[in-house]
Amino acid sequence: MKTPIRLTWTVEVDDALLHPLRESLGAIFGCSVQPGGGFTVLPEEFHAGRRQYSASAILRRLRPLRKHGEYLLAVTGDDLFAPGLNFVFGEADARAGCAIISLARLQAPRLGFPLTSERLLRRTLIEAVHEVGHLQGLGHCPRTSCVMHFSNSLADTDRKTPDFCPSCREALPPSGAELI
Ligand SMILES: [Zn+2]
Ligand SMILES: [Zn+2]
Repeated sequence: MKTPIRLTWTVEVDDALLHPLRESLGAIFGCSVQPGGGFTVLPEEFHAGRRQYSASAILRRLRPLRKHGEYLLAVTGDDLFAPGLNFVFGEADARAGCAIISLARLQAPRLGFPLTSERLLRRTLIEAVHEVGHLQGLGHCPRTSCVMHFSNSLADTDRKTPDFCPSCREALPPSGAELI
C-alpha cells in the first residue's frame, strides 16, 4: 500500500487548482490523495519585519493533524520563509511526514512566462512533488530538470519537470517512507 497523501489548504487556494493537483499527485505517486479541509495561518507564525510566515512554525502546528500512516501536505497562498533564505517555495519535515508549499511566489510575474492557470498548476505540482519527494526520504538532485533539484527562483522551477530523474525515481521507497 502506497502511503496516502492528505491535502489541507488555506481559504485563498482555489478549487480549480486543488482538484487537478490532487489527481496529478495521485497519478505520480500511485497513491490516494484525500482532501483534508482548510487551515488558517496564525498571527504568531507571521514575521512582522519580513512580512512573511515561518514555514517551520506552521509545520510544527500542523504536525498533530497528520493521521498515522499518511503524509500531510499543506498549500497556502501566504509567502513563506526559512532562516537564511529570502523565501521558500515549500518546506518538508520528513520525520513528521508533513510538508507545506506556498503559491505566493509561483504566481509572481516572470518576463516571457505569462501566468496561465496551466502554468500555475504545473509550478504548484512541481513544488508539491518536490516536497513529497523529501517526505519519501529524497534529498536534492544536481540535475536541473529533475523535480528534486533545489529551486532558488521561479526560473529554476520553470526549468524543472514534475518528474523524478531515473536515479531519484530508483531511490523512492516502493511503498513510501516509514512513518512514526
Ligand atoms: Zn527541497
Ligand atoms: Zn533527480
